Amino acid sequence: MDRFAHRSTPEDITADVVIAGGGIAGLSCAAWLAADCGLRVVLVEKDNQLGGRAASWLDPTTGDAVDIGPHVITSEHRNFLALLERLGTAGQLQWQPDPLITLLDGGRQLRMHAPRWPPPLHGLPNLPNALRCMSWRDLMSNMSVAWTAARLDERQTLALDDLDAESYLRLHGVSGRSIDWFWRSSMLALLNVPLAECSAAAVMRVFRLMLGRSGYCFGFPKVALADLFAPGCRRAVEAGGGQVHTSCAARSLLATAGGAFEGMLLEDGRIVRARAGVLALPPQALAALAGDAAGAASDCFANGALFKPCAYVSTMLWFDDKLTPERFWARVWAEGDLNTDFYDLSNIRPQRPRTGSLIAANAIHADEAWTWSDARLVAQTRRELAEFAPAAAGALLRHSRVHRIPMAVPCPAPGTERLRPAASTAVQGLWLAGDWTATGLPCSMESAARSGALAAEHVAAAFGRGLRHALPAPSVQWPIAALTHSGSRR
Ligand SMILES: Cc1cc2nc3c(=O)[nH]c(=O)nc-3n(C[C@H](O)[C@H](O)[C@H](O)COP(=O)(O)OP(=O)(O)OC[C@H]3O[C@@H](n4cnc5c(N)ncnc54)[C@H](O)[C@@H]3O)c2cc1C
Repeated sequence: MDRFAHRSTPEDITADVVIAGGGIAGLSCAAWLAADCGLRVVLVEKDNQLGGRAASWLDPTTGDAVDIGPHVITSEHRNFLALLERLGTAGQLQWQPDPLITLLDGGRQLRMHAPRWPPPLHGLPNLPNALRCMSWRDLMSNMSVAWTAARLDERQTLALDDLDAESYLRLHGVSGRSIDWFWRSSMLALLNVPLAECSAAAVMRVFRLMLGRSGYCFGFPKVALADLFAPGCRRAVEAGGGQVHTSCAARSLLATAGGAFEGMLLEDGRIVRARAGVLALPPQALAALAGDAAGAASDCFANGALFKPCAYVSTMLWFDDKLTPERFWARVWAEGDLNTDFYDLSNIRPQRPRTGSLIAANAIHADEAWTWSDARLVAQTRRELAEFAPAAAGALLRHSRVHRIPMAVPCPAPGTERLRPAASTAVQGLWLAGDWTATGLPCSMESAARSGALAAEHVAAAFGRGLRHALPAPSVQWPIAALTHSGSRR
């Protein structure tokens, strides 16, 4: 776009920082900068509400809060939890210290635990369950890959990026049964893609943490997911003299002839002029925005298009009766399954007026199910639910909702781990944030929150303010840490 075409109008906005994207990454970045650096922030969000891929709505039929799809928070979501602490909403989480998770394997319910024992001994309580489902031989076939994971540093991990995880596991002699029972299930839940389509680097980074950290647990929002962070971040921005605009998309970047950031042109024709900018957008949205910065930032903008979206289908079922006392369970992977994780929100959100079960389930990497009718998705979800809670088969289903989500996270396909960009760009005064940037974490709310804090630190430094809010990604504990290749400890 011709930069001389950007004529000022009386509606133009001036700010210290302009942020595009009102998901967790953009909102957390905005809140830290407004609250702790005193900067005037303008945040623009394309959608008509804040929250992005962690958005929530009110269901008009029942009046219940529904999320885009059910989410779990872990005790390792440190940056996200620090944000909630700061916003005063951390108390709105329902923690489940034990069991870690209940797995449904065929007809069996397996309770899995994560005690605070020195790793890898924390896995011992789960051994009897594992041996009900696979042989000693299958279990021992993981020794080589476990030993490798225990010793990998980040550089060596990234060197595995071009390999797909399934081939990598087979190369290490992991048995087919072990791949099906443990690896397919856990990595679909944690990384959202089938092993054959997943970077071995992404898998090994997560597995190393599973092996080397103990005492983690899951938590669930007792309120609408977006209410944990969106209103509080908005208040922080407005209290700092800034503005939050929804239904307001950024169209392109404005930069000086020397390649320094100078603002954003919005879809409605207004310009936000600011010394600093943050793009907290999904990767595929970057290229279209490059504008004046296209030359300077061409690689980082073009690479965004290389991240393929991982689609989800989330189904919610309202029953008249209570079906289970459980909050959360997951199905062990099986060919032909639709859903992976299930939640009964009636056991998580005590403020709900009605007492019947409100079930939410996620179908992950749901390319095939995407084309199914709502009726088929509801029927299949109900069948899978009844395998865990048999009362579901005969209970009265009062209402249902299906959300087709084009991208829950970008796929961690082979070759993409090393494409994840740092916060800094080649454009002076412009930074990136988002779950898909280089945070050392799988794409998640925690990765988004960490990226927001990292971008905020860079912007603060550009204004001469010190901000140290980004908490490190979790690392392995002793004695696994002692095994890591020498010279690689950070
Ligand atoms: C169903 C589901 C289940 C999930 N489960 C979990 C879970 O259990 N645990 C977990 O940690 N994570 C989970 N995730 C992933 C998590 O929600 C995301 O990783 C996180 O919300 C991403 O936040 P973000 O800010 O990086 O990106 P986004 O939320 O995508 O925010 C980017 C924003 O930019 C906006 N935008 C796009 N283009 C423009 C433009 N031109 N101008 C202005 N705005 C624009 C978008 O509308 C969007 O609001 C799940 C996601 C889904 C959908």
